[in-house]
Amino acid sequence: MADSLDYLCAWVMGEKDSFENLIDLGEKSGKEQGFNICQTLDGNLVFGTRCEGGECSVALHKSCGDSIDIVGTYHTHPSLQDDPKLYSNFSGQDLLLSLVQDRRIICLGYELEKQRHVNCLKIKDTKIPEKDSQVFEILKDISYSNTAIKSIRERGNNLEIAWAKIKNLPDDQLKRNADILYTISESLKRVDETYQKELKLNISFRDKLLELLYKKGYIEACNG
Ligand SMILES: [Zn+2]
Repeated sequence: MADSLDYLCAWVMGEKDSFENLIDLGEKSGKEQGFNICQTLDGNLVFGTRCEGGECSVALHKSCGDSIDIVGTYHTHPSLQDDPKLYSNFSGQDLLLSLVQDRRIICLGYELEKQRHVNCLKIKDTKIPEKDSQVFEILKDISYSNTAIKSIRERGNNLEIAWAKIKNLPDDQLKRNADILYTISESLKRVDETYQKELKLNISFRDKLLELLYKKGYIEACNG
């Protein structure tokens, strides 16, 4: 099995241009780009269909075709907006999906200080969440935290929509709604604080998971 994992890493290195091209595309579009790494029945590695989106790894699911196996995934994190600590690492969600879906290799592309990076992890075991309750528990934490982040974001969006509506009222009506406007802006502040807190927690879960996976020998960097 180790041989085939090294073969996967070597294949990525050989196809580096295709991987790096998606980083450029991601930077231009501001959206995640990705494809599956697929293996045909006779063992050849091929690219799955390219996809674009927010959570690429979810949409990537279907793009290998019927007679071939998804052995890995690749996606990019655009550097727009987010801080480097976020986009230069796999997210908790990335790791969760890869482990649950029994991937053998996961690769991440990003640009940092004008340099393109493609980092891949070999996943040296399958069915890890089923075999290891410690891993399973952290995956659960990540999953709950992802759900929380999603609902906080939704609440923030709704508040912003309400705020914009009132803000655009004619002056006399705006005055009458001043209290509501104030309440909304205070709520928005609290939502933002909660969001930052949850995001930090999410990253700490991700770090904890990565550390555990390395320590137990479940994963290894392709180039390490
Ligand atoms: Zn990601």
